[in-house]
Amino acid sequence: MAKRIVTLPGDGIGPEIMAPTLSILRELGDFDFEEHLIGGAAIDACGVALSDETLAAARSADAVLLAAVGGPRWDSTDPQAPRPEQGLLGLRKGLGLYANLRPVRPLPALAEASPLRAQLIEGVDLLVVRELTGGIYFGEKRREADSASDLCIYSEAEIERIARSAFGLARAKVTSVDKANVLETSRLWREVVSRVHSEEFPHIALEHMLVDNAAMQLLAAPRHFDVILTENMFGDILSDEAAMLTGSIGMLPSASLGAGGPGLFEPVHGSAPDIAGRGLANPLAMFLSAALMLRLGLRMEAEAAAIESAVAGALDAGLRTSDLGGSATTAEATRAVLEGLMARKS
Ligand code: NAD
Repeated sequence: MAKRIVTLPGDGIGPEIMAPTLSILRELGDFDFEEHLIGGAAIDACGVALSDETLAAARSADAVLLAAVGGPRWDSTDPQAPRPEQGLLGLRKGLGLYANLRPVRPLPALAEASPLRAQLIEGVDLLVVRELTGGIYFGEKRREADSASDLCIYSEAEIERIARSAFGLARAKVTSVDKANVLETSRLWREVVSRVHSEEFPHIALEHMLVDNAAMQLLAAPRHFDVILTENMFGDILSDEAAMLTGSIGMLPSASLGAGGPGLFEPVHGSAPDIAGRGLANPLAMFLSAALMLRLGLRMEAEAAAIESAVAGALDAGLRTSDLGGSATTAEATRAVLEGLMARKS
């Protein structure tokens, strides 16, 4: 039976990169795509960023593919106004997606596109494992007349399960990133990660690093890292920083997994309102997110590898969208990758 994939194009460049991704996937298999609204588009249509119907459809799918949400149209400092990001947070929470995986593997063809020297990023192959359903993004938020607060809270169980994901994915080393010199949640994080390590994964090396140092080391010595394990907000920031190792945020895919149900696969970048509607978006992070969906969500390794090698082949042949310093359009990038996929059949 065809796998059922819920697609959520969202806002801005979202629909422009989702449509070509479906054409890539159709080249590789028989999928049943079911499109739903999320983010600003859903706010406009039904007043909320994630409707019960969309969440129910996502829950019963084999996998969920999302492009991006948000845009200036829905920006507001009114705490009561619905926000597009509520769609993302609601989906992550509603599907129990506590592990966000962001592989960062700069392709040789793009060595010159990174603002870092090619010799620094050569051989970088790291994975950011970010806790996704706890911490300050989900703690109680309060607004008083002249002050505001966001509660950061983590339970031992939340830290244990994300630590297990990270150690299970590591080849040799986990760098656990926290701010244990200042934050109590970080001191608990350090204790629990150390315990999971010594009891269950003693064969993997573990180091602890403060988040400010980690931000620096990511640029100074990115090859130092294998798996970076960190909490929600630190992971959000560090993985965008790590994206620049690949040359552009338009290159970075992500997977969010929970305990059993469907995974959510989406590019790390946002809805890029500054270039939306002009056919200029780089669709490669979205294609690579579809590859992660095939590999981790649908166990279709050969098809996942086919997308990744078609993307690498297109870049080797000189494909560069504007974010990579070139002038290729979304349509040209799609054509180049589709041609690579078709060539593998002949
Ligand atoms: P952004 O990632 O949308 O854009 C940052 C810069 O990178 C922009 O100059 C943009 O043009 C460029 N860029 C991003 N993706 C690109 C691509 N595929 N091809 C070419 N260039 C690309 O981040 P932002 O500008 O801070 O946020 C814009 C909106 O997106 C906001 O509303 C924000 O809340 C939202 N956002 C959504 C997500 C998500 O859906 N997961 C993530 C981050 C930001």
